[in-house]
Amino acid sequence: MIFKCKNCGGNTVYAPDKGRMYCPHCESTDSEEKIGDNSLVQCVNCGAPLQLSEYTSACRCEHCGTYLIFDERVSAPYEPSLILPFHVSREMAVLHLEREFANRLFAPSDFMSAKSLEKMEGIYVPFWLYDYDINYDFAGEGTRIRTWRSGDMEYTETSYYEVIRKMDADFERVPADASYVMADGIMDLMEPYDYQALTAFAPKYMSGFLSERYNQQADELASRAEDKVREASENLLQGSLAGYTTMRTYHKNLSLHKKYTCYALMPVWQYVYRYKDKTYLYHVNGQTGKVVGATPVSRARVVAYGVSVFALATAICGLAIHVLEIL
Ligand SMILES: [Zn+2]
Ligand SMILES: [Zn+2]
Repeated sequence: MIFKCKNCGGNTVYAPDKGRMYCPHCESTDSEEKIGDNSLVQCVNCGAPLQLSEYTSACRCEHCGTYLIFDERVSAPYEPSLILPFHVSREMAVLHLEREFANRLFAPSDFMSAKSLEKMEGIYVPFWLYDYDINYDFAGEGTRIRTWRSGDMEYTETSYYEVIRKMDADFERVPADASYVMADGIMDLMEPYDYQALTAFAPKYMSGFLSERYNQQADELASRAEDKVREASENLLQGSLAGYTTMRTYHKNLSLHKKYTCYALMPVWQYVYRYKDKTYLYHVNGQTGKVVGATPVSRARVVAYGVSVFALATAICGLAIHVLEIL
């Protein structure tokens, strides 16, 4: 499907800064009309052939620039329950990148050029969100040690405590991304998202962006969410055991119960920068503006920097010599 403007026939897109549908051609808002089509082989607007991966659910026609959304990849069994609509616009994402890299001396000079930044794309990444409740039973022996001095004697008192913890906790919407191309580590660094803004899925939010349907089933990725839950549970337990000098564990047992699983799309801006045959990837959280990515180091800039420091040092020496001569 595509979203067309009722006023001018242009391709309407979801505008993150406005929080509504927008036509970039005639600047009208909420003027969209859904034009349905199930073709995965050609553009519904211009007929140009498409080359899609088996997971592509939304793309931009390379020929006419229209944003296409593929019905059969956003409807059951691939229909997301929830979507976190883009909140950061393209312009804001560029600003976040500029702010992040403004002070990094060694970035190549075209790193933040308008031409390079044209290649930035907004992507909805498929995620599974898992709800768990946990029970954590712990029993152990804790000690607290008190020392004091009286006259010539130093006293040490060790108190022993039987420590029992029975914890119940709920974890909601623990995320695991379900895209092969999106490295897991990157999406973990993108967190946190504010899930309060999750909303019921509607295809119009995808207009203007790229997307994939989930690549893997919820069961295949549950272990990643469980690792996060185990770690968070352990932190909760350890937090409750603070204040003892030593702690000996008699027994502990953590049990996890998966309550609910939900399929959602999360927004990410992706900037691909090529430098000397290497590809660098930058990501900006499409909701919060958080930036993830390392600066490529340009040799030319490093050398230029070294030369200017050296020249400055020489100038200061010259000044010192000059002062000495006057004296
Ligand atoms: Zn229009
Ligand atoms: Zn087209």
